Amino acid sequence: MIVPKADRRRFLQSCSAGILSSALARTKCQAIQSKPPGKYIDAHVHVGTIGLGHTDPLTVEELLRWMDRAEISQAWVLPLVSPEAFPNPVSTEYVLEKTHPYRDRLIPFCVIDPRNTWWGKPPLLKEVLTRYVNAGARGFGEHKPGVAIDDPRSLEIYAACESLKLPVLFHLDAICNTDDPGLPGLDKILGMFPQLTFIGHAHGFWASISGDVVNRRQLGIYGKGPVVPGGAVERLLNKHPNLYADISSGSGISALRRDPTFTRGFLERWQDRILFGTDYLSSGWDTGQQALLKDLALPAAMEEKICLGNARKIISTE
Ligand SMILES: [Zn+2]
Repeated sequence: MIVPKADRRRFLQSCSAGILSSALARTKCQAIQSKPPGKYIDAHVHVGTIGLGHTDPLTVEELLRWMDRAEISQAWVLPLVSPEAFPNPVSTEYVLEKTHPYRDRLIPFCVIDPRNTWWGKPPLLKEVLTRYVNAGARGFGEHKPGVAIDDPRSLEIYAACESLKLPVLFHLDAICNTDDPGLPGLDKILGMFPQLTFIGHAHGFWASISGDVVNRRQLGIYGKGPVVPGGAVERLLNKHPNLYADISSGSGISALRRDPTFTRGFLERWQDRILFGTDYLSSGWDTGQQALLKDLALPAAMEEKICLGNARKIISTE
């Protein structure tokens, strides 16, 4: 079915909520002007109100002040729109608007829930994503819907992202982007979209660093104890050059703290595919990634890739 042009225009106007029109739309793919100092690019932060006991939003100004203190040069700012993702949704439009004055340091992402009904019309994925890209979005995520990671509706999103060259940062646990032990769904999408960069994150992804995940429940909790050989993460990194991983949040920390001997070798083997990230989402959040990296005392060249170089390889900001 062909959607009448007027309908499509009305839909696109309504979903852009004013933010993507006018001045912001003219900033089309706004170039990063300078290379701010700092030894890190944080591949995973949020802004807005996280809900529950937190009623004050994390503002971009607070985020930037924290980044200054933590020597973080730039950060990828991720909206969260799926109902399972965050107590309060943080829209793409909000992220684009709030980051707009600070695009030299804050790199906005965009996201669409795959269950969007598009008012019964054929999906307008490509059109909406293109408007987001024209307004400055450089990646897709945090992709965190309560469906299987290879849900047919998500496959359409991956196809659109692949054609627009938007890397997809996903959260995998027992509720969001669900999969089976061994991550066959992730294996499938990595193979289906070889030109699309996927960045793995969260409980289920990082629990699969170890070969002892035998049921879906384990994909919803942090793994513990020495890493058992044969984990899906390393198998998939080996098989698919389009898979990367961010070490953000407690999931990344616990995966890399559980078996220091394994971690050292793992980071050595995958130093070109691991990204520094924190999941910073409220003032005063004590992220542990910098302490972890300090404890590991990695060779300088390896640390530089993980902390900054790999992120720039995915999204050029120079
Ligand atoms: Zn997150």
